[in-house]
Amino acid sequence: MAAKQASSKWRLVPDCISAGWNLVRMPGKTHRCPLPPADDRLLELESELRRHVTVLADEIGERNVRYHPRELAQTAEFIAAEFTDAGYTVQRQEYDVDGTTCVNLEVEIPGATMPDEIVIIGAHYDSVENCPAANDNGSGVAAVLSLARTFSDSKNGRTLRFVAFVNEEEPYAHTEQMGSWVYARRCRKRGEKVTAMLSLETIGFYSDQPGSQKYPPPLGLLYPSTGDFIAFVGNTRYGQLVRQVVRAFRQNEQFPSQAGAMPNVMSDIGRSDHWPFWQEGYPALMVTDTAPFRYPYYHTPEDTVDKIDFERTARVVRGLESVIRALVKIA
Ligand SMILES: [Zn+2]
Repeated sequence: MAAKQASSKWRLVPDCISAGWNLVRMPGKTHRCPLPPADDRLLELESELRRHVTVLADEIGERNVRYHPRELAQTAEFIAAEFTDAGYTVQRQEYDVDGTTCVNLEVEIPGATMPDEIVIIGAHYDSVENCPAANDNGSGVAAVLSLARTFSDSKNGRTLRFVAFVNEEEPYAHTEQMGSWVYARRCRKRGEKVTAMLSLETIGFYSDQPGSQKYPPPLGLLYPSTGDFIAFVGNTRYGQLVRQVVRAFRQNEQFPSQAGAMPNVMSDIGRSDHWPFWQEGYPALMVTDTAPFRYPYYHTPEDTVDKIDFERTARVVRGLESVIRALVKIA
């Protein structure tokens, strides 16, 4: 008996290695630098992203219910105006938090052949206290605005929605007052069939310095230590979505990317607006530069426009255009 016990104990080692390998094994290969030259379209996208992040971080600044509700409302108006300018009719989902009206903003392109199947691209627009939040999450909001404009007259099989969420940050994160949870609950209540949700969360900071990328343990053993990539973070339940998304990204954009479908016990994987969609039983993932695991200015007054690498962010956004095309299917 003892010998058998010993051998089954040792069998655990390859079992763990193969389980870990399954989490990180993804289709395609990450692109290695150098990046291809920028074309006109990329430069245009870059300047659009810069313009949006500048409004959010420089002109508006800190935006949240507790300390800067006026700026939070101003941000919602800016986003609504941009959506409208891109040709959409904006739907507002309003709810009350301690006497302040909070709002999620939604625009939609109904699908031509599979209108009941819905793809959602979202980002939160609030900020933490004492932080202009250029990267977290001005970068994600700017990406949503640019993508919404790009797809405004597209014809797709599935319904495509772009949503700006309020109240992702503390003290609302993972509570009933989190904007994306208010929204995801409504989707569930209405019986909507969300086939994919992508949370664009802090996507603007990149570094070529060795050692610039950190991880919650034990991921450092499995992933690179240079923070020059975009990450696609999902859970094991919806690993299929992670693989579909990273495959489309890698096939179309020459930019470093990493991906994983992790077990939910790794709580860091749930730190954004995709998490409420998981709670409601919808496939979702986070697109991120990994925020606190790379960005030295995370949640500080130094999260400013000059820290954002707009050219690399534009490449990520261009890659996401291909991802969205794959998710919504051509009509
Ligand atoms: Zn944050």
